[in-house]
Amino acid sequence: MDDKLIKLHNKVFKPYLGESQILEAVDKMAAKIANDYKDEVPIFVGVLNGAFMFVSDFLKAYQHPCEVSFVRLSSYQGLTSTGIVETLLDVPENIEGRSVIILEDVIDTGRTLKKLVHLFSQTNVKEFKIASLFYKSEVYNGEYAIDYVGLEIPDTFIVGYGLDYNELGRNLREVYQLNQTHMINLVLFGKPGAGKGTQAGFLKEKYNLKHISTGDVFRYNIKNGTELGKLAQSYMDKGDLVPDEVTIDMLKDEVEKNPQAAGFIFDGFPRTAAQAEALDNFLESKGMQVDATIALEADDDVLVNRLLERGKDSGRPDDQDESKIRNRFDEYNQKTAPLRAYYEKQGKFHSVNGIGEITEITERLGEVIDVLS
Ligand code: AMP
Repeated sequence: MDDKLIKLHNKVFKPYLGESQILEAVDKMAAKIANDYKDEVPIFVGVLNGAFMFVSDFLKAYQHPCEVSFVRLSSYQGLTSTGIVETLLDVPENIEGRSVIILEDVIDTGRTLKKLVHLFSQTNVKEFKIASLFYKSEVYNGEYAIDYVGLEIPDTFIVGYGLDYNELGRNLREVYQLNQTHMINLVLFGKPGAGKGTQAGFLKEKYNLKHISTGDVFRYNIKNGTELGKLAQSYMDKGDLVPDEVTIDMLKDEVEKNPQAAGFIFDGFPRTAAQAEALDNFLESKGMQVDATIALEADDDVLVNRLLERGKDSGRPDDQDESKIRNRFDEYNQKTAPLRAYYEKQGKFHSVNGIGEITEITERLGEVIDVLS
């Protein structure tokens, strides 16, 4: 494999894994799985589109009776709290009583995997196993055991060997990674329910950024009963902001934990003038800066409905009661909205229409990010 850089759309990628390295990992997986399943006829289920090349090479290496089928998942066109995937091609028929082995190209956060497990949990299969060629252990949420792994890789954006960057790059025989030359730090701005978390999920993949949602960090601490969680809970439950000192320290910790990050998406931070100033000072002390603050704009009534819908399955107490939602909007109007002027003064404020299909909104955000130098 040579060291050629390639360009896909507007991004430059550098070689990461050579063809022989990938095929060796595929062969090893096939040998291991054959050892476990050679006495029966398992059904391999590839996850489209990304896994098509892996499935093909895997089956060539798997020299025992087997069947093959595919499922296809895609971005969900709407707002959900638990995930953003929907089924386009459903579970194969006649799998009752059979051993099913999922063939995934890459497992990162585990969001797609959750949907897959859910799909197959409604069937009567004998056994359900998961095999993933690439596995980002750093970001995997650990919800389900992954039975077979080809190669463990760091949390970087990769293309090639079936994986794409906006649909390009799937036909490359090797795997490339983003050749990031400068950091991008983004603040996602907008009222609760504007879609910051959903969009951050896409942008982090597309631009190889670390997503920090202060709300998620607080909820994680509440769930795990930490001191920080206990402190934050009473404020959050009412829809009030958690005090600045607590939030700022927590944010700094999260940034410090990721010294290798190629950039950050700050989601839900800053929410007050003191937080915005603290963020600027902190980033400056590290030779970093906020490159852009992008607001997702939507009307209050649309947002209230979205949040009440989300509250039905998220279980978040602050999403289930309209008065708490309105209180969060008041907090936003009083304390967060003035930050618009703060970032405008720095020439960093951008506004994006937050109403429409999720993919359309991601594109609108991309138009802002792609011209950042
Ligand atoms: P979110 O998930 O961003 O809607 O945040 C949920 C709740 O977490 C907020 O209503 C606040 O109580 C708390 N929270 C999240 N981020 C911040 C912040 N930057 N400052 C203060 N409180 C926050």
